[in-house]
Amino acid sequence: MFIEKFKVDSPNVTYAEDEIRSLYRYETTELVHAKDNVSGCYQWTVRPKTVSYEFKTDARVPKLGVMLVGWGGNNGSTLTGGVIANKEGISWATKDKVQQANYFGSLTQASTIRVGSYNGEEIYAPFKSLLPMVNPDDIVFGGWDISDMNLADAMARARVFDIDLQKQLRPYMEKMVPLPGIYDPDFIAANQGSRANNVIKGTKKEQLQQIIKDIREFKEANKVDRVVVLWTANTERYSDVTVGLNDTMDNLLASVDKNEAEISPSTLYGIACVLEDVPFVNGSPQNTFVPGLIDLAIHRNSLIGGDDFKSGQTKMKSVLVDFLVGAGIKPTSIVSYNHLGNNDGMNLSAPQTFRSKEISKSNVVDDMVSSNGILYEPGEHPDHVVVIKYVPYVGDSKRAMDEYTSEIFMGGKNTIVLHNTCEDSLLAAPIILDLVILAELSTRIQLKAEGEGKFHSFHPVATILSYLTKAPLVPPGTPVVNALSKQRAMLENILRACIGLSPENNMILEYK
Ligand code: NAD
Repeated sequence: MFIEKFKVDSPNVTYAEDEIRSLYRYETTELVHAKDNVSGCYQWTVRPKTVSYEFKTDARVPKLGVMLVGWGGNNGSTLTGGVIANKEGISWATKDKVQQANYFGSLTQASTIRVGSYNGEEIYAPFKSLLPMVNPDDIVFGGWDISDMNLADAMARARVFDIDLQKQLRPYMEKMVPLPGIYDPDFIAANQGSRANNVIKGTKKEQLQQIIKDIREFKEANKVDRVVVLWTANTERYSDVTVGLNDTMDNLLASVDKNEAEISPSTLYGIACVLEDVPFVNGSPQNTFVPGLIDLAIHRNSLIGGDDFKSGQTKMKSVLVDFLVGAGIKPTSIVSYNHLGNNDGMNLSAPQTFRSKEISKSNVVDDMVSSNGILYEPGEHPDHVVVIKYVPYVGDSKRAMDEYTSEIFMGGKNTIVLHNTCEDSLLAAPIILDLVILAELSTRIQLKAEGEGKFHSFHPVATILSYLTKAPLVPPGTPVVNALSKQRAMLENILRACIGLSPENNMILEYK
């Protein structure tokens, strides 16, 4: 059964007009590793541990502005058009049926959580009913693009939406024109040069100042309370991380002043956002978050999240490998081919930008492999190869072909082959929506553990977003979790804690 919303009735939870407070018992474990005096062997001891936390969520949902870097790209135009279509209740004729706008593919808008059971029936509610979240229909969109094409023409260029929908969206989108962006041909493929007709001139410092000015003016012009910036521009090459250049906050800022060539456009947008206390999310694979930028974000306690949207092939991988390894089956070879024909594919056809994508896709099974010391020797990994080819004819309709070979019982082999065809931007757009909605929400949550004097926000490196990213950015010294179900559980359970609900444990003891 499905319910629209619910309220928690508990002595540990208080709902006020502007705030939700909860007292929460965090059940965890502590591990100790010590030498046994008698046998001389090391022994592990596990101690269950309970820590009391207080959560405080600001229940006032702000008017949100979202500025996309790469607004006129396939993702940017698809998301903008999709939100307008939902807001305006647009429907359109396809060859199959009259299609209504929806938010399918969005965790916050189209997925549910289990609330409990009632008279033997499982009760589910929308994910977004957990805490007050921004309604996508109320978001004001804006942003930058190195191409000056208006959003209606950009939508046509993307060739993602059906033509009848495009016709209806055009009047809403033709007046939307991206602000000039920071263009550095050294960081993206040479084949992008022809669309770069809308660029910010000047030194790195002047470019940075322009982005700050743009954010302030956008906020003012649209009367929004809060802005989130998200990079959905072309994949850049990796920038070199060098001592003295971008390794610390001070060195990074000094390098901007010195107009150092190795400071990438995406890092400049990131610095601007951190300086303005605007959450900044990176949806592409490059190392925008060089150590100096992470240092700056930590120093100023300003949210950063990334990297690279987890939309198709990697999402499947982080489910399938988790399932195989969890079932005691040993994946030994994972081979992934992609071909796509959109502008992203063209940009990735250059070796340096492809390399960024290859790196981002490569570590995704590491945590699952290292979780099973029965199947894998220390340091042992499955062969894992990723190939991406640009094939213009298929446009945005990306093909992903994967072959998983595993060792099974008694030396047997099992091969699973997947073929996945999908409009890339229709997968990415709802993920962008979730990223900005959850990034905003997480800035309204404060917590303190027992013994901590003051409430504080989450760590500025937003691991809470990792369900949505291919190569989750984590604070130094924090384990990276790629398995999709764990990432989703982490996010859902943290939001449940904010309203005093225990994690979903799936034990259903009531019926045992
Ligand atoms: P796209 O090429 O259609 O759009 C990118 C836009 O960014 C273009 O309009 C380009 O003009 C603009 N741009 C480039 N450099 C810029 C800069 N420095 N400042 C401002 N604008 C700039 O690509 P897309 O299909 O929309 O994908 C966007 C990004 O998202 C790519 O990096 C892609 O790898 C990443 N991504 C996409 C998916 C997906 O499923 N679609 C999944 C994971 C990651």
